[in-house]
Amino acid sequence: MSRPRIRALACAAALALGLGAASAVPASADPRQTEKDPIAQGSGGAVASVDPQASAAGIEILRKGGNAVDAAVATAAALGVTEPYSAGIGGGGYFMYYNAKTGKVSTIDGRETAPAAMPHDAFIDPATGKPYNFTPELVTSGAAVGVPGTLATWQRALDNWGTQDLKKVLHPAIQTASRGFVVDTTFREQTLDNKKRFEAFPDTSELYLPGGDAPKVGSIFKNHDLAATYRLLAKSGPKAFYQGELAQEIADTVTAPPKNADTDLPVPAGFITAKDLADYAVVEQAPTKVEYRGLEVFGMAPSSSGGTTIGESLNILEQFDLSSMQTPSALHHYLEATALAYADRGKFVGDPAFVDVPTRTLTSQLFGAERACALDPARAAVKPVAPGDVENFDGLCPAETGAPVDEQDTENVSTTHLSVVDRWGNMVSYTLTIEQTGGSGMMVPGRGFLLNNELTDFSTVYNPEDPNRIDPGKRPRSSMSPTIVLRDGQPALAIGSPGGSTIITTVLQTLVNRIDLGMDIGQAIAAPRASQRNTAAVTAEPEFITAYGSALEAFGHKLTPAGDSFTPQAEIGAVAAVEVDSHGKLTAAAEPVRRGGGSAMVVKPAK
Ligand code: GLU
Repeated sequence: MSRPRIRALACAAALALGLGAASAVPASADPRQTEKDPIAQGSGGAVASVDPQASAAGIEILRKGGNAVDAAVATAAALGVTEPYSAGIGGGGYFMYYNAKTGKVSTIDGRETAPAAMPHDAFIDPATGKPYNFTPELVTSGAAVGVPGTLATWQRALDNWGTQDLKKVLHPAIQTASRGFVVDTTFREQTLDNKKRFEAFPDTSELYLPGGDAPKVGSIFKNHDLAATYRLLAKSGPKAFYQGELAQEIADTVTAPPKNADTDLPVPAGFITAKDLADYAVVEQAPTKVEYRGLEVFGMAPSSSGGTTIGESLNILEQFDLSSMQTPSALHHYLEATALAYADRGKFVGDPAFVDVPTRTLTSQLFGAERACALDPARAAVKPVAPGDVENFDGLCPAETGAPVDEQDTENVSTTHLSVVDRWGNMVSYTLTIEQTGGSGMMVPGRGFLLNNELTDFSTVYNPEDPNRIDPGKRPRSSMSPTIVLRDGQPALAIGSPGGSTIITTVLQTLVNRIDLGMDIGQAIAAPRASQRNTAAVTAEPEFITAYGSALEAFGHKLTPAGDSFTPQAEIGAVAAVEVDSHGKLTAAAEPVRRGGGSAMVVKPAK
């Protein structure tokens, strides 16, 4: 997208969305804030997340002079209270930061890590010699719990780029946890969806199923244990989590899950020791970078597959002029590009500390140009398609391709994303998770937070050829895709989404909608979604099937409605983004409907 076009689209966005309809901004983070708007426009800083209390926490920090990093940690900590089934200190994530002063994009990989004693057959039931049933049996286990990275991520981000300390940025979340927040339909439904798993553990059921039922919509929900844990961390810092009593309690919970005697879930024990917690380290690494229509798009490098897979897809799509096509034709290209990129993701991407990942090749324009040869503008390829040849490529069309690999997809739809921009133009794009909605279902007794089941992102069955095989000390491959876009070296967009392996396609489709298909950021997020992850059928939201189903079937695509045992909702993703136009005007944009709608706020709403 050239500069003037962005400006034109931004103006169109302003008109379409109605300036002045900006979100109500609380003077301070109201822990019982329930008012939410999916779009807010203005200046002075902006936050987009799934939740009004969390966005308000970030805005409060920005208003009091904090920068985007301070505000992002405050927002994330608040999400640990109000979105406890998606994120929290029992999980991990990827933090991406654009520094307005240096113009540099940096990342922190705070992914959960397999403990040192993790065996290759951790997910095989010794009673049967076969893998545990994935859900609820395997996800509800100590074996699935990875060493959490979230708190270490917050501390590193604040140390590197923040202006406030952990104590200050945890304050709004402590208020929310102790004063309580108003339960909404999504919270109640997610609790009920997890009833059987939560009932398996005394602490979890006591907190989330008081009297045997999920908290009622409209009631006030408090989490005093979590408030106390946050206070401890505010006082003593992350060492209180990674060392000492709490570390031992985490290890004890994982290795001897505190399950109720009457549950019929097996809850296999896990392997985390206090030493694993003491040894946990975040990884700072360069982002992936591709150029797309003149914009610079930065993504998360492995252990996430987000940056390489979005980057490769964009490089493939760059070969085609999507903006001149009819929408179904452009969507056909989008779906085919992701199938090709997922084939390469499956074959090549894992934790680079264990696997030689060809990150540079996967994100190179030449490789993308060669992969684009396999995209027939008129016809959908038979899936799964084969991976490319990362050793020999020259941008020209190869004579033959290798053998396709069947894609296994066991990632879930929990997780949350937040985007923040401050008054100086610093940007944060941060995706964090505990994996399954409700994580492992296990709480550390008396501490008020759930432990993740992130290790189920590894392949269940060990195969030495598989880049995502289980290994001790390794990070499972992720799809989380915090993304930052620059225009002429200046901030343009911070964006990301939850949604397991559909995260990648959700972020990509939103970028294509925004950059190629003439939508403003609000429309780009609201538009119906489809996800092709190199499988026989395209998973699509019902509205997408209604709008484009027959046109895409004419290309040879098979569409199936979203929603299966892993993704019961018929919706895909939940984007949170902040866009900066070429005059510095901010548009925070969240979901209008999905997951009950998100919350966009700015410090100074436009008049
Ligand atoms: N565990 C997934 C990943 O790291 C994210 C889970 C989700 O979004 O539901 O890619």
